[in-house]
Amino acid sequence: MPYEWTTTELTILKENSSKLPLDDLAKLFPERTRSSVAHKRSRLGIKYLPEILPIPLSKVCVDCGIEKPIDDFHLHCLQPDGHHSDCKDCARARINQHYKDPGVKERKSAYNKEYQDSRPREYFREKANRGNRNRKKKDLRLYKLRFMLRSAKSRAKKKNLPFDISEAEFGGFRQLDYCPVFPHIELKWDNDKIMDNSPTIDRIIDELGYIRGNVRIISWLANRIKSNATAAEILLLAKDVENRIEYIW
Ligand SMILES: [Zn+2]
Repeated sequence: MPYEWTTTELTILKENSSKLPLDDLAKLFPERTRSSVAHKRSRLGIKYLPEILPIPLSKVCVDCGIEKPIDDFHLHCLQPDGHHSDCKDCARARINQHYKDPGVKERKSAYNKEYQDSRPREYFREKANRGNRNRKKKDLRLYKLRFMLRSAKSRAKKKNLPFDISEAEFGGFRQLDYCPVFPHIELKWDNDKIMDNSPTIDRIIDELGYIRGNVRIISWLANRIKSNATAAEILLLAKDVENRIEYIW
């Protein structure tokens, strides 16, 4: 059973998804299951209109028998009304019960191992790289911020510093074009390797670690100068520069 959809298959799927009901559509792909065709069609966002029922405002859960609003049911692309027949609470209870079974965990890890052994390591590496490239293309700054957060987390672990921040801490990162410390430095969000003008996460007070209110994004140059010397040393250096300023100019 092939994993990846070929270009030819996708073309056929795109052309016929809105014209044929699911059962006839699945016949065009004898290699694949009906459910696999349905999922791919759903992911492409194409619908066969006569198959869709108007979405009800509420329905009765087949499990607990309680009538609940439609948002309390998970989405399901194979159901005519687009939702599961059991409610989210019942679904969660069922899944939790399922994973309590020790046999399930074992079977799952055996399956994962088999899947990983079925392909060369390069295949998975390439797949991960492809995902990264797409995320980078889609939203460069968010990609970079997440990368910085991951690195900060591992630094915090190594240095035994507290780490309790998320993307939410950097609300203005999309508008942050210049280094707040050195306003003449334009931050480059797409540097492949770290350079003076790369954005980096700074701990305002070093020892407090990565906690809310103590982090900001500054250029790597500013960050490096900060971390190479104490505040008192930087002030002394500035004073020294100031004394010699007439010679510089
Ligand atoms: Zn229920």
